[in-house]
Amino acid sequence: MLSGLMMDYPLTLNTIVDHASRMTPEKTIKTKLPDGRWHEYSYAEFRRRVKRLGNALQALGVEPGDRVGTFAWNNFQHLEFYFGIPCAGAVVHTLNIRLSPEQLKYIIDHAEDRVIFVDGSLLPLIEPIAAQLETVERFVVFNLADGQSCSLPNVSHYEDLMAAASEDYEWRCADENMALGLCYTSGTTGMPKGVLYSHRSMMLHTLGALAAAALGPTETDVVLAVVPQFHAMAWGLPYAAAWVGATIVMPGPHLQPAPLAVMIESQGVTIAAGVPTIWNGLYHELRGRPRDISSITQLVVGGSAMPRGLIEAYERDFGVNVVHAWGMTEMSPIGSVAKLQTRHLDLDADGRWDIKAKQGYFVPGVDARIVDDAGRELPWDGATMGELQVRGYWVAGQYYRLEREREHFTEDGWFRTGDVVTIDPQGIMTITDRTKDLVKSGGEWISSVDLENMLISHPDVLEAAVIAVPDERWGERPLAVLVPLAEGHDPQALNDYLLERFPKFWLPDDYVLVEEIPKTGVGKMDKKVLRQWHADGKLGSA
Ligand code: AMP
Repeated sequence: MLSGLMMDYPLTLNTIVDHASRMTPEKTIKTKLPDGRWHEYSYAEFRRRVKRLGNALQALGVEPGDRVGTFAWNNFQHLEFYFGIPCAGAVVHTLNIRLSPEQLKYIIDHAEDRVIFVDGSLLPLIEPIAAQLETVERFVVFNLADGQSCSLPNVSHYEDLMAAASEDYEWRCADENMALGLCYTSGTTGMPKGVLYSHRSMMLHTLGALAAAALGPTETDVVLAVVPQFHAMAWGLPYAAAWVGATIVMPGPHLQPAPLAVMIESQGVTIAAGVPTIWNGLYHELRGRPRDISSITQLVVGGSAMPRGLIEAYERDFGVNVVHAWGMTEMSPIGSVAKLQTRHLDLDADGRWDIKAKQGYFVPGVDARIVDDAGRELPWDGATMGELQVRGYWVAGQYYRLEREREHFTEDGWFRTGDVVTIDPQGIMTITDRTKDLVKSGGEWISSVDLENMLISHPDVLEAAVIAVPDERWGERPLAVLVPLAEGHDPQALNDYLLERFPKFWLPDDYVLVEEIPKTGVGKMDKKVLRQWHADGKLGSA
């Protein structure tokens, strides 16, 4: 074999912060603070703070490989942790602030976090469990409000540590295979499972995210990560945006539709990323109180299926291009993006929206196949449904501190996503369901996702979730749980509406109304809770 003769230049995270402060030192990172004021500083200052953080961590006794938790909104401090902790050789473990106390304790103990950085506004969520945490030696708090007390044990204040630390620091992440970050899955089944990213996998993922076929931010972009930093590394946007020196806008705790609308307008945001629930809320806000959001070139949406009706409505009503992406915590997370290709350029608007509502093309770096129950590969004909399996540069090879079990990883090296999909001959993937959410009625599959998308496009419906409920005759039947937009609700009208698109046996047996669909910690509809409500007889009829 003739080996290549290229440099052995490690794929390590310091490259990003060094590059940004060199190439775009004056570009800025802006954060909306809890009190509504803006904090802003340059990439040059950012790098100095990241270096200080390295020394501060060393002063705390944090060693390479140690896990350091973050319990925070999206803000500049969290961005400093994103870089400073891995560049000090330690592992940034993003803690989901919406987990239950039991789940939070479980993942902190499981990860064996030694230090946790805590945002002042979130103290009440962590204080009650602080004394029970098995491995945490120190809490570092920041953003404390004036006069706010803190009952955590062994507390340091972030700005005190930073003030005492020098900016003279040598990065401690020379090996690209070192662990960089740890993120636990949102845990809609069982306990959350940890995914441990390496510098190498995250740098390759960042390059993947920078490809125009994926998200492709550039220096001229103003990037707003609404997706929390604890949800699958904010989909890689902070790293990608920083590498090219884009302006980064961090919303802090201001995630409600009204402040988001103002933020997008006032900051001239060009790329914004969030889950469908967020964009659904923003859409209704903008209908009620118009704002100019036409600066947006990519409204990135993922985490759950974006209803086609909403993609259409954003483009039709506000001229905003929605980019539908699919991913998983286990994939760092980007897997596929629904961007149009040459063959779609002649399509009319309807045809284009059909494509954009799908989960799209696998991005370069991700390989995929679909298989049946016996693991046999299925055709890409756009009709045959099967379980999606993936492999690639940034796909997990096993869960943190768990065996590499067959339930999630195949013997021949693929990750089992648990998503049921079709792939068409051109390679466009469409998610039909999660394996556990499909409705199996009389031996036939009914896609809860398809029904939900259609229901939400009806003018009377704000939110819709479809769950399988046990049925003596058919095994399972679909039940629709709705949040109506206005008083009054006519199941017959909804049935007629669904019949335009689906066979009769797909129609829900019942429609029940709720005030709100329960959501998981990352804002997805929590069907596990809905199934429980149904089992407990808590879901009445409409
Ligand atoms: P998480 O790791 O919490 O991001 O969850 C990953 C799962 O979310 C995937 O396996 C899918 O079931 C679902 N998901 C993510 N993006 C999409 C999307 N665009 N459409 C439908 N489901 C999605």
